[in-house]
Amino acid sequence: MPPTVQDRPRDARGYPVPAITPWVEEQPQFALTDYGRSAACARERLCSVCGRLMARGSVWRVVGAAECAAIGEALAAGRPYRNLAPTLEGPGHRACMLYASMVCPYLARPNARRGTSAGRPDELTAHVVRGAVRGTMGAVVGFADYEFAVTATQVLFRFVDVVEFLPHDTADAHAEELRAELAQDR
Ligand SMILES: [Zn+2]
Repeated sequence: MPPTVQDRPRDARGYPVPAITPWVEEQPQFALTDYGRSAACARERLCSVCGRLMARGSVWRVVGAAECAAIGEALAAGRPYRNLAPTLEGPGHRACMLYASMVCPYLARPNARRGTSAGRPDELTAHVVRGAVRGTMGAVVGFADYEFAVTATQVLFRFVDVVEFLPHDTADAHAEELRAELAQDR
């Protein structure tokens, strides 16, 4: 676990709570994105996972199967990739996104966050934490930078220029990469 994630508040089970997660009556709502917290992260250039400042330069995010395929195709064809449809998913540090891709079902499976209901997060989390193979492929992707818009009801992100592309098909695919990243930070 990245040290900055270690410092996050925990839920009753001990899971660290991402910076953009809303709280209702002291319960983190993992399936949802908090508008105010997300807007603050966008404006202040804070990591959506750990809430700490992201240095100038590249930012990372976890993408789902469809976007992973689109990025892979663009890179293979030597075309620049741009997500023309903006996303609600904010950026983060490389270590934080590698970590989140392995333990957070809502980031590992971005579509899971879209609903208004939390679904069955305990079951989903346990499934991913056990390192089971996921049905869908995703990726941790580095981008040169991000753009954002804070509307009356949403915070929308758009990412420019892919600088790193790390596809995964299992929950623990990035364990080695994360260990190396944390060792380098120290
Ligand atoms: Zn972070």
